[in-house]
Amino acid sequence: MRCLTLLTLAVLGTAGAHANPASENFTYEADRFADIQVLRYQVPGFEQLSLQQKKLAYYLTQAGLAGRDIFWDQKYRHNLVIRKTLEAVLQSYKGERSGAEWDAFVVYAKQVFFANGIHHHYASNKILPKFPEPYLAKLLAQSDAKLLPLEGKSVAAFARELTPILFDPTIAAKTTNLDDGVDHVAASANNFYRDVTAEEVDAFYKDLAQKSGNPRLSYGLNSQLAKIDGRIVERVWKIGGMYGPAIERIVGWLEKAATVAETETQRRSIEHLIRHYRTGDIAEFDEHCIAWVSDTTPTIDFVNGFIETYVDAVGKKGSFESVVSMRDVEATKRIAAISDQAQWFEDNSPIQSGHKKANVTGISAKVITVIGEVGDAAPSTPIGINLPNAEWIREQHGSKSVSLGNIIEAYNVVSSKSPATEEFAASPEIAARLKKWGALASDLHTDMHEVIGHASGQINPGVAPVDQTLKNYAGTLEEARADLVALYFSLDPKLVEIGVMPSLDVGKAEYDKYITNGLLTQLFRVQPGHNLEEAHMRNRQLVVAWAFEKGKADNVIERFTRDGKTYFRVNDYEKLRVLFGQLLREIQRIKSEGDFEAGKNLVENYGVKVDQTLLAEVHRRYAPLNIAPFMGFIQPKLVPVKKDGDIVDVKIEYPTDFLGQMLEYGREHSFLPVIN
Ligand code: ZN
Repeated sequence: MRCLTLLTLAVLGTAGAHANPASENFTYEADRFADIQVLRYQVPGFEQLSLQQKKLAYYLTQAGLAGRDIFWDQKYRHNLVIRKTLEAVLQSYKGERSGAEWDAFVVYAKQVFFANGIHHHYASNKILPKFPEPYLAKLLAQSDAKLLPLEGKSVAAFARELTPILFDPTIAAKTTNLDDGVDHVAASANNFYRDVTAEEVDAFYKDLAQKSGNPRLSYGLNSQLAKIDGRIVERVWKIGGMYGPAIERIVGWLEKAATVAETETQRRSIEHLIRHYRTGDIAEFDEHCIAWVSDTTPTIDFVNGFIETYVDAVGKKGSFESVVSMRDVEATKRIAAISDQAQWFEDNSPIQSGHKKANVTGISAKVITVIGEVGDAAPSTPIGINLPNAEWIREQHGSKSVSLGNIIEAYNVVSSKSPATEEFAASPEIAARLKKWGALASDLHTDMHEVIGHASGQINPGVAPVDQTLKNYAGTLEEARADLVALYFSLDPKLVEIGVMPSLDVGKAEYDKYITNGLLTQLFRVQPGHNLEEAHMRNRQLVVAWAFEKGKADNVIERFTRDGKTYFRVNDYEKLRVLFGQLLREIQRIKSEGDFEAGKNLVENYGVKVDQTLLAEVHRRYAPLNIAPFMGFIQPKLVPVKKDGDIVDVKIEYPTDFLGQMLEYGREHSFLPVIN
């Protein structure tokens, strides 16, 4: 699971001191195009690592980059052809490299690089080029044919074939299609399935789980399911199988990494991962996860493999991703102070006593400093990660919950300059408090959401898991539950007592930010005419709209206009806290009892529909601020320093050119054929 909680924080600006201050003179902003801002991040403390740790980080980073092609191909089967075409044009086009058409081409190329393919990384819809169709043929005709993935075709024939794939909005419209009433497998453009229906997928894996005698394995996680000559077969992602050439490289780097592992458990976890990549055996991946989750001491840690299943509309296939990181010792103290008190929070939660856990366990939380991300984690990145995903491992061995500290830091610095705080805060005092405490408030919110939020509460005996009882509302309700735990305790003196915040002003800043975001600023990410679809966005509006309505008689949250602009102001923080507690109690009851009707009503009544007049106003107010709704990152580059063939040091560089990095990756880390 991953959490994107803070993404909107970057929209409503906050600032403040953050643990682990990095270089003051670092430029975070790197590029701005379409709806995207590209940032950079620092890795404070990298230089102080031991040589062994630096080598480990380097090998693991290379292992991640070796798999970059996989994620492109997973998202859409023509993505690699398209990427290599864009790379060829950018590197060899001999025509005029200026003017509106060229500029539109460059923006399109950047959008595709940012999304790892031609579908928007967040909205999943196809990105349509803004340059005219005939321009594509012109670009190809004047580029180096040797660099184009022609596969034996003439340049003209290749251009004809490519044109509808890029320009026809009805071809491969969405990489992940969750629309009501469609076949979610057949209607999704991703490459997890070929010529099969959702029904066939379901039947295939039910059958496989039944026959195996080991129904708890995540069947289908690492394969494409395809109908070939009328037979349904799994094409497994492993050495010698689909994606074999890239996986061979990944394994080569992992073998080097195993030789410099920090602990025995870490070495075993890497070796299980290698065996998984060699054999395709999911049981080996589970063994890797078990070793990985119990390995809590090393400084360097990593995620590598087919991990998250969000791109698959039916949630089976794992997207390739790699995250290499080091522990942030200072910031981890803050999160540890909260997780040490997990039982106190559970005991003092406003939920019914029968819904509380007697023993809250298995929370291993830390703040990490990211060193490199690839695949499903880049350039757009999560800010919190909670793994492994296999439910049985989580229950028996626990899970690791991490906050990506230096990523959050970069967001905080950039948004501290954002004029959005003044634009949307209800008063100058509230804006000032947000500037002072907003960053710390957000850090604490994320920590509590992950560490005591998702981990709290229990389901009544005999009630099925939430995906069966609450179905398509399960995600939104679960995110709301975790947010409400964080919100409820944000204003608790306990946080001051355990030393994670200096005063309750931090909690007030959190309430101000959450209210404004849930009712106003997050609408910036929604296109006019649309309603809310994404689970986190739905949950935020649900929480705030519910509290707004329930507190109306007491004027707890006030809506007013000034100079024709809408604002929301909290008039009574204590009463709002009580309301959050009531809603938390109700949502926990819904989860514990599996009350689908009540859950559906909450989400549909408060979390879906958007006030279109307000949405238009939000877009109007954002327009002059020139803020991008989406952000992502250029990755640092690790450069080994060699002497007589041995690595004697690893230097870290911070590239500034997004497109340059994308082209470099294409040249140096591409190992798959264009058609897989
Ligand atoms: Zn969450």
